[in-house]
Amino acid sequence: MKKENRKTDKKVSAKSDAADGLRELFIDELKDIIYAERALVKALPKMAKNASEPKLVAAIEEHVRVTEGQIDRLDQIFELLGESNRGKKCDAMEGLIKEGESILEDTQPGSVRDAGIISASQKIEHYEIASYGTLVAFAKTLGQDEVVVLLEATLAEEKEADALLTDSAYNAINFDAADEEQD
Ligand code: FE
Ligand code: FE
Ligand code: FE
Ligand code: ZN
Repeated sequence: MKKENRKTDKKVSAKSDAADGLRELFIDELKDIIYAERALVKALPKMAKNASEPKLVAAIEEHVRVTEGQIDRLDQIFELLGESNRGKKCDAMEGLIKEGESILEDTQPGSVRDAGIISASQKIEHYEIASYGTLVAFAKTLGQDEVVVLLEATLAEEKEADALLTDSAYNAINFDAADEEQD
């Protein structure tokens, strides 16, 4: 039943600079995540500025500081590996940030917009959790023990950020947002 010519299921030919070993793929993915973290650090202040609930504003501002620390950790990793810390465009993070920005336009300020900001932020955290989870596995496979420790520290922070969004802010704000709909 397969149509050989369907664009969607074609075998992709590799570019000339394509990774041919796990280490190269690992470096590429590190370049992707440092690009993503740098983009996020630039996007977060707008999210904080548009949030209303003080706890949420504080959580986002705290996440800016945490993210800066994660970028420092990535810099250390590139140094340990003897590679340049130049980023490589992360289309996923660009898209997630764009979605976050459109949620701002699509919601009135207040608890509904806050709920939207949390939704966008959790999608971002989940992307990061997936990315760092994979990076930890790659680093372990490659026997990069020092790098594993650094990546695990960041992975724990991403999980904590996600949990923070879920408990403290999420419940309170979603109840308010539901109330707003009723009155
Ligand atoms: Fe991060
Ligand atoms: Fe990416
Ligand atoms: Fe989407
Ligand atoms: Zn994060």
